[in-house]
Amino acid sequence: MKKQIFLFFLINLIILELVGFFLPLSAGLHLGLMLAVAVCATLIFTFFVWRFSKKLALIQKKVHQINVANDDTHLILPNDDPLHGLTHELNQLQSHIKHQSHRTLRQENERETLVKHLPIGVMVIDRYGQVQVANDVIQELFQHEFDPIPHAYQQDIVQPELLTMVNAAMQRQKSGQRLITFDTPQNRKNIRVQVLYSEIRPKHFQVTVLLTDVSDLVAMSKMQSDFVANASHELKTPITAISGFSETLLEQPTDEKTREKFLTIIKQESDKLVKLIDDILSLSRLRDDQPGDLKLQQIHLADFVSDQLDDHQASAQLKSVKLENNVPADLIVTSDEGRLRGILYNLLANAIKYNDDGGHVTVAATSTFAGWQLSVSDNGIGIPTNQQQRIFERFYRGDNGKTIPGTGLGLAIVAEQAAQLSGSINVTSELGVGTTIKIDFPNDN
Ligand code: ADP
Repeated sequence: MKKQIFLFFLINLIILELVGFFLPLSAGLHLGLMLAVAVCATLIFTFFVWRFSKKLALIQKKVHQINVANDDTHLILPNDDPLHGLTHELNQLQSHIKHQSHRTLRQENERETLVKHLPIGVMVIDRYGQVQVANDVIQELFQHEFDPIPHAYQQDIVQPELLTMVNAAMQRQKSGQRLITFDTPQNRKNIRVQVLYSEIRPKHFQVTVLLTDVSDLVAMSKMQSDFVANASHELKTPITAISGFSETLLEQPTDEKTREKFLTIIKQESDKLVKLIDDILSLSRLRDDQPGDLKLQQIHLADFVSDQLDDHQASAQLKSVKLENNVPADLIVTSDEGRLRGILYNLLANAIKYNDDGGHVTVAATSTFAGWQLSVSDNGIGIPTNQQQRIFERFYRGDNGKTIPGTGLGLAIVAEQAAQLSGSINVTSELGVGTTIKIDFPNDN
């Protein structure tokens, strides 16, 4: 700046010298006047330059603030100032940048929250093979905490099939998906893996790994196919018997006694078939039920149990089994009558069926801290300890009852209906001593 002022002073002197050349002044006066005018002009010039550079310094500070600092005060200059337009544009630019950076930050937060709370595992790998994003679900599936700073994906992905898929995406731009089994110390999980290669812009790509736990779906579909296989098998046995015996009756001449014997078998097998189909239909209807389908109402339990026992009196009498109702007379429970009837029906049928002649069956109930408990006890043949956990499986028939007719679906129906009423089942049984099945129901199911 000093250099410019000195230059300005010299130019002034030269101009005044030229002007003085044409003016008729004495040499002394000429020099003095010339110096005085040059000094004054330079001082005025310096003042304006100083003011201008002060404003420029302010503008420079503003640009710096826009760049790095968080200060959002605006720079205001009078309307007639030559720098007014420039500062106005700068102020606008500052507001725009601030708005944009807020927006970017908000979007970034929204994206992070979304990825964090997604119920599937998400991992994003950049084109340099660095893990940029990994949510909690994926860390849980991999059974380790990820380094929060970007790092090579090989550090986290050790599962060979998944590693092959990610390598293919990174090196050959190949997306893919498949079902992979993940073994954790606790259990085995079926995971649907999707590895997606995506080009963000030319020569820039990222690889996204999505892991969805489909263990429940796989288990459900296995259960369904097992069910179909079991049901077909169970249906085939009586049908084969019916068809075989009726064919013999039709094709071969038989005496009256054999005829009656064959017809009795046909009748028994058709009854079995009807019971089996009824049970299968009950189970499939129960599967379709929605939680809202429950019809909760107050039930006077002792009366309700008494009605159910009446329905079983005939079959109990055939074996001289005594039925007892030990439900307190004043116990009122809130439940769904239909579900409760289904539960009691199957438990009572089993307690009579798997009982010895002259045995006892007792239905009892009590209020509990969290709700109420229903129990059906018998002093029948009992269930071997190693089979007690399996008796609620569909089509499972214990060794103890192989000679006793059944479908293996009664307790599966009980379990399904108890679950709909949020009940939890407990079995205690001893071979040759008897069986008690208790179900705890909450008050507010
Ligand atoms: P099902 O009685 O038609 O065989 P369930 O599902 O009702 O089918 O019962 C499954 C198995 O549990 C029975 O085959 C039997 O072995 C056993 N079980 C159920 N209830 C009793 C009971 N009260 N006493 C002894 N065994 C029982």
